[in-house]
Amino acid sequence: MSEAQRAEERVGEARTNLVVMKFGGTSVEDAKAMLRTTAIVRGRRERGLSPVVVVSAMARVTDMLLAAAAAAGRGDKFGSLALAARLRNRHFDTAAELLCGDRFTEVRAAICAEFDSLDDLLRGIAAVGELTPRTSDNVVSYGERISSLMVAAAFAQHGLNGVQVDARTCIITDDHFGKAAPQEAPIEAKLTELVLPLVQAGQTPVMGGFIGATADGITTTLGRGGSDFTAALVGGGLYAGAIEIWTDVNGIMTTDPRICPDALRVKTISFEEAAELAYFGAKVLHPAIILPVVQKSIPVWVLNSRNSENEGTKITAMAPPCASPFKSIAAKKRLTIIDVVASRMLMTHGYLKAVFDIFDKYHCAIDMVSTSEVSISLTVDSNERLREICGELSKIADVKLEGSKALICMVGEDIRGRSGISARVFSAIRHVNVRMISQGASEINMSFMIEESDVEEAIRSLHAEFFVDPDPTVFDTEARVAAAKA
Ligand code: ASP
Ligand code: MG
Repeated sequence: MSEAQRAEERVGEARTNLVVMKFGGTSVEDAKAMLRTTAIVRGRRERGLSPVVVVSAMARVTDMLLAAAAAAGRGDKFGSLALAARLRNRHFDTAAELLCGDRFTEVRAAICAEFDSLDDLLRGIAAVGELTPRTSDNVVSYGERISSLMVAAAFAQHGLNGVQVDARTCIITDDHFGKAAPQEAPIEAKLTELVLPLVQAGQTPVMGGFIGATADGITTTLGRGGSDFTAALVGGGLYAGAIEIWTDVNGIMTTDPRICPDALRVKTISFEEAAELAYFGAKVLHPAIILPVVQKSIPVWVLNSRNSENEGTKITAMAPPCASPFKSIAAKKRLTIIDVVASRMLMTHGYLKAVFDIFDKYHCAIDMVSTSEVSISLTVDSNERLREICGELSKIADVKLEGSKALICMVGEDIRGRSGISARVFSAIRHVNVRMISQGASEINMSFMIEESDVEEAIRSLHAEFFVDPDPTVFDTEARVAAAKA
């Protein structure tokens, strides 16, 4: 083996030890949470891992920054500066509790400088009386810029060699402000140049999530909730061994534990299954976010920073075989069904297009569709534009609206090619009125529409049917066994 090959292998080994750890707003919401986060990262270092940390802004800070930006955009300078002052105090108080000595003095000065420049920016916006998406991104970026500063300082104080990296030097995006698209190749190059050497020197880099910059250095953001996206980009770009998303739930559950107290933690789930669930507000990654890591087969863990002993859920490219057909049951409420009936549709083409064009015009996303020769049923999130949409639809068809509906979605790779599953599903809920049914093209989910008021009952019945005897290799059955013994 040549020297170069050996060196390459060593890098390979180092990368397996590299773990990207993302902490959401609640995991850095105050000094106590930041200290919990510090302890979790220390635990990983003690296991011989090299963490790269991505943090969100402190909880609720992004919302307040957006409110400050909006106030400035309306010309309300004082309202906007008052919000910024509240944020400044909250960050000062947190730093005072978190840090001591010279480190506190330094960080306080750095926070002060950031808030001074934020105030200048808000005054500028208020003077112009106009808020562009570009300036809005600039305002909102302060949340992650300052939280990463503080967390890095906490890590430094507690012997973890914390060092802040400005995410805007690495996360290169296009200039679609508010929801910029990351550019993978330059990101990988920047991470290799700027972050990898820090890791190799035994430091713990801390970056703000959510924010980036164009190639020209103009600040951008990846869209709300974008810190998970940053974690995936950093993990993908550095070829990390794993990505850990630290949040405040025990990973992905078989269903909402508030509805079914005997819901179980799912130990492993596939990217595809997680993506189906993400849409239903299950606390998992957004599908687009998962892509950069799927391509590199990097496992993603969802973990609970308030319960760090919990093993969480591992999301992998391929799901291990599972004796239970479904992994999880989710529900989405506040939906409306729109029935579009037109005899004109008979034997014509272009009709569906005409219908969908109307939804497109109002940027209204359709969740589920079922069609017959003369009718189309569509489901959408209940929203303010429905009245206008229906107005336009009624020019080409008879339209009927039914509100207060809910979509139940059952996800599992193991329903593929198995017979008798839908019979079990619908017999479990035979007392519930089912309005629309669809089995996704992906063949890993079964969805159907019911009355909102039937959701709890339906979920309990389905959970009882499919999770009486769950596969212990995939679901955490220990809690249930313990409960049965007690
Ligand atoms: N702080 C940003 C937000 O609240 C990004 C994130 O937390 O993921 O949307
Ligand atoms: Mg989040």
